[in-house]
Amino acid sequence: MPINIQPVLNLIQSILQSVGQVNNLLPPSILPPSLLPTSFIAPPIAQEILYTEMTIPVPQPPGVTGLPPNVYFDVSNLFTAAQKQKIRDSISGVLFNWFLHMSQKWNGGANNGLSQLASCSNTYATKNLKPFWYKGVAITNGRKAAEVAMDQITQIIKDNGFRKSPPSRIDWTYIPNVGSFIITTMRANTASTQTKVPVNVLINSYQLDQPNVGFGILLGAMFHAWLHRAGFTDPKITSYFISECPMCAMRGYAPKNPAVPDNLFYQYFD
Ligand SMILES: [Zn+2]
Repeated sequence: MPINIQPVLNLIQSILQSVGQVNNLLPPSILPPSLLPTSFIAPPIAQEILYTEMTIPVPQPPGVTGLPPNVYFDVSNLFTAAQKQKIRDSISGVLFNWFLHMSQKWNGGANNGLSQLASCSNTYATKNLKPFWYKGVAITNGRKAAEVAMDQITQIIKDNGFRKSPPSRIDWTYIPNVGSFIITTMRANTASTQTKVPVNVLINSYQLDQPNVGFGILLGAMFHAWLHRAGFTDPKITSYFISECPMCAMRGYAPKNPAVPDNLFYQYFD
């Protein structure tokens, strides 16, 4: 009879993390030898399956050539099936926003359209408009920043889907909020280079399970993470592109509502 050690693993990991002893995940090799069949020869840890590949279709906007049919993510097996579905939905949401921008910019072939994402970003984003690696003509407005960001996501999609970048890893953690303060939702490092950048994201499984954390929030958190992988930098506050662009997507490109403060959105960014 198989023994389900996953709940035990999750518990041990959360306890160890709470005292700062481990940063990420334990290999599922902690079964005591007494529980292993005597004829069993333990494989090296490297051969154990810690991740399962997730395949996500790439929507194909007009005017963008050479796109792969899919992108791929190595997703930690510590996530539940329901959590994996939310991860899939949030990545698909980022891809949809990219698709819509590219389609609207293509403008039937003129390639001069002002997308809703670029228009909204242009209204609100005024700071940190340039990716870390960027060496081109100065970016002076949010529209241009959005166009550079979406072109860079095209690059990321191509490198991922044709497996030119290292595998993109979605890693697991479990960190409860402290009171109403959110410690982390989806964390990604700012990429310093333009090509072969994997979309590595550390995701807080605790947040995925919160009933008040819906698709819109997870889309925004994932979009913010992708913009880090596209080279954009924090702070994650009002006026900065890496906040305003995902917040535009979270509002469905609508203008800000003065009754809804920005921090209700960007508290979910890392
Ligand atoms: Zn950030």
